[in-house]
Amino acid sequence: MIDIIGDADFVIAGGGTAGCILAARLSEDPAAKVILLEAGPPDRDKWIHIPMGYAKLFGSGVYDWRYETEPEPNLDDRRIHWPRGKVLGGSGSVNGLVYLRGSPRDYDRWAQAGATGWSYDAVEPIFRSIEHWEGDPSDARGAEGKVHVAVPRMAPAAAAFIESCVAAGLPRNPDWNNGKPIDGVGPIQLNTRRGRRSSTAQEYLRPAMGRQNLRVITGAITTRIVIAEGRATGVVAMTPAGEQTFTAKRQVVVCTGAIETPKLLMLSGIGDGAHLAEMGIETRLHSPGVGRNLQDHLVAKFILRTKPCGTINEIMRNPLRQAKMGLDYLFTRNGPLSVGAGEANAFARVTPGAEEAEAQLLFVNFAVITYQAGLLPHPGVMFNFGQCRPDSRGRITLRSPNIEDKPRIRANYLEHPNDVRVILEAAKLSRRVMEQRPLANLIEEELRPGTDTRDDEAYLRHIRATASTVFHPCGTVRMGTDDQAPLDPTLRLKGIAGLTVADASAFPLIPSPNIQPAVMLVAERAATFLRMAG
Ligand SMILES: Cc1cc2nc3c(=O)[nH]c(=O)nc-3n(C[C@H](O)[C@H](O)[C@H](O)COP(=O)(O)OP(=O)(O)OC[C@H]3O[C@@H](n4cnc5c(N)ncnc54)[C@H](O)[C@@H]3O)c2cc1C
Repeated sequence: MIDIIGDADFVIAGGGTAGCILAARLSEDPAAKVILLEAGPPDRDKWIHIPMGYAKLFGSGVYDWRYETEPEPNLDDRRIHWPRGKVLGGSGSVNGLVYLRGSPRDYDRWAQAGATGWSYDAVEPIFRSIEHWEGDPSDARGAEGKVHVAVPRMAPAAAAFIESCVAAGLPRNPDWNNGKPIDGVGPIQLNTRRGRRSSTAQEYLRPAMGRQNLRVITGAITTRIVIAEGRATGVVAMTPAGEQTFTAKRQVVVCTGAIETPKLLMLSGIGDGAHLAEMGIETRLHSPGVGRNLQDHLVAKFILRTKPCGTINEIMRNPLRQAKMGLDYLFTRNGPLSVGAGEANAFARVTPGAEEAEAQLLFVNFAVITYQAGLLPHPGVMFNFGQCRPDSRGRITLRSPNIEDKPRIRANYLEHPNDVRVILEAAKLSRRVMEQRPLANLIEEELRPGTDTRDDEAYLRHIRATASTVFHPCGTVRMGTDDQAPLDPTLRLKGIAGLTVADASAFPLIPSPNIQPAVMLVAERAATFLRMAG
């Protein structure tokens, strides 16, 4: 029996990074009735809120959609695990908390690619309005936004990494988010408030939860967008109360993320007509760009055994040090538990004459061979290295017309020769950094790929055998002014009224570093566009 819930103005599918912002912003108007439907549970688990819980949740697969790519031809036909958050706050509740706006040129490129009005000059005030920067006051940083951004206390090996990068020729960069091109090496910035995850679920949605005009339903999987006479009029969802239809008088807003958003559109008849026909789905709108233009960052690692130098591996093997870490966190909200995916970052040009950074190195103060296998039983650190702006493009397609079936993900990593070249140069740069003091003095053994890995062929073997995702899929329902772009630059679906897409799918191009702040930007702007539309 289908229950009709009919008086919302906005129905938002997906309560992740973007959906939480949309729900909070749209319900600021007491006259606007808003429903947010999230497939996962509320974000109550304490490990969501302790930054180091990232590694724990990640390894366990809890709150995870657990996607996998198809066998990747350039990665030895391996299927790559793609975790995505399935919980209020979405991937932003389980991610590594690295907070980087991106380079100004990233957004200028968006504007050039047809996202009119998204140049850096246009979006910079929005970035400032999102953030509450806890570092030294700066005109370039926001001080009153909802998302807190801080620099955690750094471990000794991370400080050594920074010095070794400088010794290898990289400039120091004390602030990644000040509107200058991201280049050089410096400490990481994390979205944390007093050592706790500062997610959009906590900072935007939680304070709005008591509003009479906002209804948040968790455990609710949106299965289809209802389309009548060329207009999206609502969605159907499987909720804890059974199958329900939620009607939207003003707009359906899809925020289910870069994988589920194209899937939901295709299941609703919006996509490439030929593919929909293959799946036996009636085409409501032939929009061939849906599911295409998939981009992601690929990363490979150096895994190093070190002398004792305060790595997480040492701390976790010693009950006294564990207790100290717990107390440190409890009383100062600092120390290893307050750190997410990494401790220091480097962005580097790896091509002679390059005008901007092409590669990212992330220093991690622990070592694992795989997250599932857990921490190695000795001191260790890792360098992650990858390319900032890959040229390879993948695609998401349906496996079947059933909502329960995961879509097919073809990332096509390293399909473009430039991506191979840049990641190889990033590997060589990492080795140059490792060979500089003071880091060189800390390293006992190179566990992966091994010191005999010196030429392109050997590096490429290592990359193909071990590289994985940085968890940044995006671009699968991109905005632009060309015919193939499913969205216009105000994030409206072209060809069907009443339908906005606002999440990582909407990016025309992947930003150079980690992408969550760009998702927040898209969500804030979507809310503004929707409110302006009346
Ligand atoms: C393990 C991991 C580490 C990462 N580390 C970083 C990092 O350190 N820094 C950084 O900037 N970025 C990081 N990212 C990327 C970043 O978190 C994401 O790009 C961002 O959160 C995506 O936001 P979104 O709103 O597009 O999607 P999501 O936040 O994934 O939200 C989508 C939401 O929709 C829900 N949903 C999906 N389908 C349905 C449906 N049919 N019905 C109802 N609800 C549905 C999901 O459960 C989810 O809550 C990481 C991501 C992961 C997974």
